[in-house]
Amino acid sequence: MPHDLRTCAVLASPCDPLGDPLLSRVYLAPPRPARTAFQRDRERVVQSRAFRRLAGKTQVFTSRASDHFRSRLTHTIEVAQIARDVAARLGLNEDLAETLAMVHDIGHPPFGHAGERALDDCLQRHHLRFDHNLHALRICEHFEQRYAAHRGLNLTLGVREGIIKHSRSYISGEHPNLVPYFLDQRPPLEAQIIDLADEIAYLTADLDDGVESGLLEIGHIRNHVAILSESYADVATQHPGVDEKYLFNGALQLMQNTLTDDLIATTLANVLAIGATTLDDIRMHPVRLALFSPSVEAARLEEKRYLHRALYSCPELTIEHDKAEEVVKALFDFWIDFPEELPQGYVDEIPAEGLARVVADYIAGMTDAFILQQYAVIKRAVRR
Ligand code: MG
Repeated sequence: MPHDLRTCAVLASPCDPLGDPLLSRVYLAPPRPARTAFQRDRERVVQSRAFRRLAGKTQVFTSRASDHFRSRLTHTIEVAQIARDVAARLGLNEDLAETLAMVHDIGHPPFGHAGERALDDCLQRHHLRFDHNLHALRICEHFEQRYAAHRGLNLTLGVREGIIKHSRSYISGEHPNLVPYFLDQRPPLEAQIIDLADEIAYLTADLDDGVESGLLEIGHIRNHVAILSESYADVATQHPGVDEKYLFNGALQLMQNTLTDDLIATTLANVLAIGATTLDDIRMHPVRLALFSPSVEAARLEEKRYLHRALYSCPELTIEHDKAEEVVKALFDFWIDFPEELPQGYVDEIPAEGLARVVADYIAGMTDAFILQQYAVIKRAVRR
């Protein structure tokens, strides 16, 4: 990297906690000389209840079908190791990148994207929206309650900015409460790489889990996904006569390496091309600099379209998505009609937040198993 573009580079070692606004917290935290600010944030995230619940949330396949599918938690760990690798090789702040990866999916509701769509549909009827990045911020600032001195995890400004801005931008006119997060500036590179590390992780994992589920066939993937097909041919040349399953595993690994190496090389080239030498240069550039090269971006889009066509919208998963929607919408409507049936902590939030937002908050926090349990209880209660 030219010069030092690490976010809070000077404070990568523990020293003056007031030196950089990105290291500031809403509530003063007692000093921990052995830990950097972002290491402490990583601990706070990993020890949160919302993080533990990721183990019970769907990534693509529900864990009921197989113990080998990714959950949101194992997906998160895969994103973290890619993000840390990319950050290290670009000379960025690895602790910030890892913490942002650990927290990046914490705002996802149960049942993966089907659950998110259903919750958003429910909220739109009340002129609100569901956004998992903003929900993640609400969890970290408000819902986690484990400290005597304050509500929330009291994360640094740098991590809170990355939570909301790693995958999209917000306009201050539409989100006045987000103004402290430098909405007119690009996020630091540590946040920019998270969205692409997420892409690399799921593009690899969803092919793997798709084959494990029996919904995708290796030969079919090879015929339709060029980047996988090329990786497979390379591995097959090196290991003639080896079973298809192991060649496929090797091809997935090689594809992940290709995507990761391309992200690193392209991002570095972009940084050099604009002559960026400081974090401000990254922030003030009109577009994000963490990108894939045009050829790998085209390969990424081809695979993404394939996954949508062949996997995410296949009849077997559509049945699961329909069931997820039915459960989310039935529970949402039930608690809108009977708010007194919500847990007391949520009832107490209604005057400040409004009923629809509170119901969505409650549902969004649930694991797949817990929401199905609630659905069964409420169906029994309604029948009586
Ligand atoms: Mg993710």
